Amino acid sequence: MMGRPDATPKASHFIGGEYVEDTAGDPIPVIYPATGEEVARVHAATPAIVERALAAADAARAEWAAMTGAERGRILRRAADIMRERNRALSEIETIDTGKPLQETLVADATSGADSLEWFGGIAASLRGEHVRLGRDWAYTVREPLGVCVGIGAWNYPTQIACWKGAPALACGNTMVFKPSETTPLSALKVAEILVEAGAPPGVYNVVQGRGDVGAALVGDARVAKVSLTGSVPTGSKVYAAAAAGIRHVTMELGGKSPLIVFDDADLDDAVSGAINGNFYSSGQVCSNGTRVFLQKGIKEAFLARMVERLKGVRMGDPLDEATNFGPMVSEAQMKIVEGYIAKGIEEGARLVTGGGRANLPGYFLQPTVFADVTDDMTIAREEIFGPVLSALDFETEEEVIARANDTPFGLSGAVFTRDLSRGHRVVGRLEAGSCWINAYNLTPVEVPFGGSKMSGVGRENGLVAIEHYSELKTVYVGMGPVEAAY
Ligand code: NAD
Repeated sequence: MMGRPDATPKASHFIGGEYVEDTAGDPIPVIYPATGEEVARVHAATPAIVERALAAADAARAEWAAMTGAERGRILRRAADIMRERNRALSEIETIDTGKPLQETLVADATSGADSLEWFGGIAASLRGEHVRLGRDWAYTVREPLGVCVGIGAWNYPTQIACWKGAPALACGNTMVFKPSETTPLSALKVAEILVEAGAPPGVYNVVQGRGDVGAALVGDARVAKVSLTGSVPTGSKVYAAAAAGIRHVTMELGGKSPLIVFDDADLDDAVSGAINGNFYSSGQVCSNGTRVFLQKGIKEAFLARMVERLKGVRMGDPLDEATNFGPMVSEAQMKIVEGYIAKGIEEGARLVTGGGRANLPGYFLQPTVFADVTDDMTIAREEIFGPVLSALDFETEEEVIARANDTPFGLSGAVFTRDLSRGHRVVGRLEAGSCWINAYNLTPVEVPFGGSKMSGVGRENGLVAIEHYSELKTVYVGMGPVEAAY
């Protein structure tokens, strides 16, 4: 193992522009997934900490909203620059927190967070309403912030999630209390620290730690105007219901079981690369993964053989070594969940092509696993696994594969690999999914909306549409007189 940088945070929470500790909260150990060692410890927010964070966000609202969009945008863009300058240190923390290899975190986490801060910072000055002529009278609309927003994160992309929620919220003039996943509490604190360094007034972006109960306390508070959650469908239902009780705005980025469809005429290596990116990146812990790989009969065996060949390029080991390209599961619990699914796949009769077990390493490493001859009714084809398990299913016709691809309560993503571009557009046109790719997979740049339909979510992150989800329009009707009345 390489020398491991010290990832211990200055304190558990970041509120009102400073680190705050309250050791009365339940301890939350930070486990390095590559060794199973406890590398840091934070404490869950007590009710007093939750109150302090919400009060800080509430108190910061007026000043932040009164600033010009250009001023807010400058701060966000400065934060983006700082994140890029510190990319290596931030990536090391992300690697220690999640176990994802440094080779990945160096290009996909703080950099993605910075992209979001930069892009929403860039459009903050251009937010505007419209002017509508109504004969003699006229009306205008004003785009206003919602107020205090709560962000709740999952553990797979902690920095990215903290920024994908924070950047559009702050650009629109809202303030935020962000609760990272209890499994990965470290990086959001760095995002908060950097925003203050870049000039964000105290209280604009706060971070509190905790498990579901802390999330629920935030969601239920009367001061909160909006909740954005990234997490599983069961958590999404609970948070959505709690937010509905207070008629709060929501964005829900939830789970998936997305189809990746490979037609006979696809470029074989591109399709295999897409399936690698859509099943094994971040050791499969990506919500939009294309875990149901539908293979047309003519390409099936060549695809599977090429996949096995390409997986020889997997390098597991110390995630801090930049040569490592495949990390452990985020936690022992997640490793056991995935092992359970692998066992189910075998038990229900899927053909294990490669992988299927733990790697001979300390920590929570699982081998990349490929099942073939998977049928639609098997558990591994129906439930989200959130690990490095690819299920290959056979198909013959376009009509058949579209119906089977859509036969799921999820609707996050989907992809088609084909050289026939009209077929590519025709098929994604009928996929019930929020984020689709043609001859690509899992590319989610900040410029375009990302999110799910059906049970996979509500609302979109990224793209201009995110502004709609973090602001509301006030309509002002201007009567030019005289005022008419019936009597
Ligand atoms: P999870 O649902 O267990 O937890 C998500 C977050 O919600 C955590 O911070 C947790 O503490 C909090 N939480 C739990 N119960 C709560 C409650 N009652 N009230 C408020 N907050 C509560 O999810 P996870 O295991 O951290 O992440 C994995 C899941 O997230 C997968 O289903 C994955 O597909 C999904 N995910 C979706 C996206 C996306 O953008 N669509 C991205 C990443 C992960």
